[in-house]
Amino acid sequence: MASHAHDDHEPTTTGPKVLATSTVSPKVRTIAVVRPSEQETSYLAAPKAGLGITLRHFAKNLFGRRRTVDQLNKGEHPVPTTAFQKALSVVSPINEIETIQYPEEKAVYPERFRGLHRLMQRDDGQVRCVACMCCPTVCPAHCITIIPEQTDDNGIEKRPAVFEIDELRCVVCGLCVEACPCDAIRMDSGTHAKPVEERADAVMTKDKLIAVSKDNGKNPTSIATQGGVGPNWREGR
Ligand code: SF4
Ligand code: SF4
Repeated sequence: MASHAHDDHEPTTTGPKVLATSTVSPKVRTIAVVRPSEQETSYLAAPKAGLGITLRHFAKNLFGRRRTVDQLNKGEHPVPTTAFQKALSVVSPINEIETIQYPEEKAVYPERFRGLHRLMQRDDGQVRCVACMCCPTVCPAHCITIIPEQTDDNGIEKRPAVFEIDELRCVVCGLCVEACPCDAIRMDSGTHAKPVEERADAVMTKDKLIAVSKDNGKNPTSIATQGGVGPNWREGR
């Protein structure tokens, strides 16, 4: 019979500390259970840490650097002047308070900001949309409703009789703008969808979408051509 090279009762260097071993069954042992320290189990540690963070923010809000909306819009940062601000700037170079008193103050949005939709027009004032249905097809929120109708223009087959966007369902992904083959829909109005009290008021109709350009001082006509031939259409914004 082969002998066991390993001794089951050999004390191990890792694991719980064995205080006693049963003489009847050596597998039955009394071990010392390691209890967490009082500091680890205390409920006071977390509130203490939280209070420290709150006090730090309180001091920062009272004595820290303030970044004005003008500085924010110009991409500038305030220079630390007091000893506290200098000490804070050592910890974090850009450690400043940015509070915009909206709506009196407004931050300038970047050029690529996706805002409220607008429908573009042709030179003759007709809506540019040809009801190709690309945008409602690609829209992940299914918030675009288009009912096409035939035009009497031989060069343009269809136009939208109804064009609606439910701004409450819109997830502002911009896919409709990307999908549009004729620059008929844009999200460069630089403004948000308006707050509404009634659910139905969030639905932007064709006329409302056309009016967004005028309401926000944007050029409503587009000079984009099929296939991108011609001048840079972005200049005609
Ligand atoms: S931005 Fe996105 S979610 Fe909103 S209408 Fe366009 S495709 Fe739909
Ligand atoms: S993708 Fe453009 S042209 Fe086609 S339905 Fe939408 S807005 Fe109209």
